[in-house]
Amino acid sequence: IKILDARFVVTAVEPKGYPQGHTAEVAFVGRSNVGKSSMINTLTGRKKLVRVSNTPGRTRTLNFFDVDLERGTFRHQVRLCDLPGYGFARASKADKAQWEQMITTYLEKRHRLEVVVSIIDAEVGPTPDDLATLDYLQSHKRKVLVVATKIDRLTKAKTLPRLQELSRQLDLPMEAILPFSSTERRGVDEVWGALLDTFGK
Ligand code: GDP
Repeated sequence: IKILDARFVVTAVEPKGYPQGHTAEVAFVGRSNVGKSSMINTLTGRKKLVRVSNTPGRTRTLNFFDVDLERGTFRHQVRLCDLPGYGFARASKADKAQWEQMITTYLEKRHRLEVVVSIIDAEVGPTPDDLATLDYLQSHKRKVLVVATKIDRLTKAKTLPRLQELSRQLDLPMEAILPFSSTERRGVDEVWGALLDTFGK
């Protein structure tokens, strides 16, 4: 996989603000601080495409990015949508309701959305919010790719057993859960490969 270009497109809250066109879209969901911003930066090979913050729960909008990439001799354009992280304990009830409304509207209405990347912390394992999100996506017939990030925090001996445990907990086959690390840049080609393979299927 070779990234040719990656750029910020627009920030949106409501459908009328979503970018137009027919570009295949991938959305990223996960709890605050799971490593979502880092993952998007790592996947696009851009250090600061998405700001990595130590203040969880700050992103309150949908942020869209366009990526041009090459796999073998094929060129693809993919649009990424960074959804605000969930499970931010200090958020108010009203904020949470607004967040939920924004995200469910997007996930239910966005026609060009091909697949949702559900990001799980490999060390922490799935939280109740992660499980609820996966349930929601499956009940709305969305294709999901689970990526277990921060895999660098597990010792080599613990990596495979943890992936097997995740597979059991999420009731998904092992090959549906991809290990990833932003700090070690692991899993980049595998995640892009899996995403591109879902398009049009
Ligand atoms: P977000 O809130 O989900 O966007 O998470 P960030 O990308 O801002 O990352 C949250 C924290 O986790 C930061 O301190 C990152 O440096 C750290 N982090 C992100 N990805 C990795 C990873 O793959 N491995 C390790 N060890 N730390 C990570």
